[in-house]
Amino acid sequence: MAPMLRLYNTLTGAKEAFAPIDPDHVRFYACGPTVYDAAHIGNARPIIVFDLLFRLLRHLYGSAHVTYARNVTDVDDKINARAAERGITIRELTDGTLAQFHGDVRDLGVLSPEDVNRPGERPCFIEPRATDHIAEMVTMIDGLVRSGHAYVAADHVLFDVPSMPEYGQLSKRPLDEMEAGARVEVAPYKRSPLDFVLWKPAKPGEPAWPSPAGIAAPGRPGWHIECSAMSAKHLGQTFDIHAGGIDLIFPHHENEVAQSRCCFGTGVMANVWLHNGFLQVEGEKMSKSLGNFITIRDVLKDWPGEVVRLTMLRTQYRQPIDWTLRGLEESSRVLERWYNAAGDEPAAGDVPGSVVDALCDDLNTPAAINELHRLSGGPEAQPGALRAGANLFGFLMRTRSDREQDQVAASGIDVPAVEALIAERRAARAAKDWAASDRARDALAALGVAVKDNKDGTTTWTVAR
Ligand code: AMP
Ligand code: ZN
Repeated sequence: MAPMLRLYNTLTGAKEAFAPIDPDHVRFYACGPTVYDAAHIGNARPIIVFDLLFRLLRHLYGSAHVTYARNVTDVDDKINARAAERGITIRELTDGTLAQFHGDVRDLGVLSPEDVNRPGERPCFIEPRATDHIAEMVTMIDGLVRSGHAYVAADHVLFDVPSMPEYGQLSKRPLDEMEAGARVEVAPYKRSPLDFVLWKPAKPGEPAWPSPAGIAAPGRPGWHIECSAMSAKHLGQTFDIHAGGIDLIFPHHENEVAQSRCCFGTGVMANVWLHNGFLQVEGEKMSKSLGNFITIRDVLKDWPGEVVRLTMLRTQYRQPIDWTLRGLEESSRVLERWYNAAGDEPAAGDVPGSVVDALCDDLNTPAAINELHRLSGGPEAQPGALRAGANLFGFLMRTRSDREQDQVAASGIDVPAVEALIAERRAARAAKDWAASDRARDALAALGVAVKDNKDGTTTWTVAR
């Protein structure tokens, strides 16, 4: 029997057995990046964690039976401001930032649509962009106005929060408590201070689209409606899993639920809501606004993507992670051990059940990684099983030899010079000319090479670490 996937669901506050609406088509949405600037390593956490869930779902249900949508927010205040500052269109800005994001996450071992989608088949991985879905947003907004869940005021369209009694269910904030606690809202056009923007007028020079609800002035959508429109279009009005960082529970996800449920008349938007914990620096959330961030690109200058990925996954996704140098160093040692243990052995048969079982327990990556440790050394060492298990995570995708070759290529080491020095050293040793042998060894060390004399009399070398 296939292992049972259990996931902690923010909506119910419990870890539950996952039962897809249609086991032949599991549908999963994650809120993606806002592409105005380089992503920081905190933004990489949901991308890596939900990439792992996507891989696990593909493993459990079959790759043709899972659709993953991870959106791109390519219009918002920060994007507009940055594009205006640079004198370029928002599309030029967001295309450039998105290309960088794609490069960054590819280096972190995250699957991309090109890796999984097959021509002529239903796409497995969709990356919808907000500006390509304005028509769908307008249609939803018109529907919400018609059904009395939204209203027009001062060229804005606002969602009428008190029109939805279950508002607050996801974030466990009862509507009456929020109403009582709300401070007087500055925007005079709001009926309730809790009401949020579905559409707003564009300022002069800002990108704008024809407005819904009979508003003459052109405008642009609010952030929350994007995800409601894109998830409905690509995954349906109700789907299986919706994911994002813990900071998105309120208001973003609460508002998505309100829009989608009121528009489509459904009981839920998604059955399961998953939220990753924060990546922190000295106990504080890494964020652009606090200025305590480091970009993915900068981390990748010093560390291989695989090391960064492992550092992210050594903590279970709901727990906070403190981002430290020590954590990266430890991951680097672990990967070294795994590469040595797996050698050039291909992945053997099935992914070990113990690894799958651990991941099926609400993505218990620390337990799954312990299983990989067990397979990597001692009496239970199984190189092929280690590789198969690690591959499910997106690790050990290369053989040890290929990795070493990559390291040599990346290091810029002059290979013919190394080979010549090794030959020189061998000749010096044969002639018992120890001074010459030491000179050759020192010259090799200076080139950044570690030499190993093997029992069979051969000498091999790697990039020194
Ligand atoms: P933002 O660009 O702030 O909208 O964030 C994009 C995604 O990254 C959202 O899912 C956030 O929840 C997530 N995120 C932002 N900062 C962090 C952090 N420090 N740790 C974990 N996730 C984060
Ligand atoms: Zn969203």
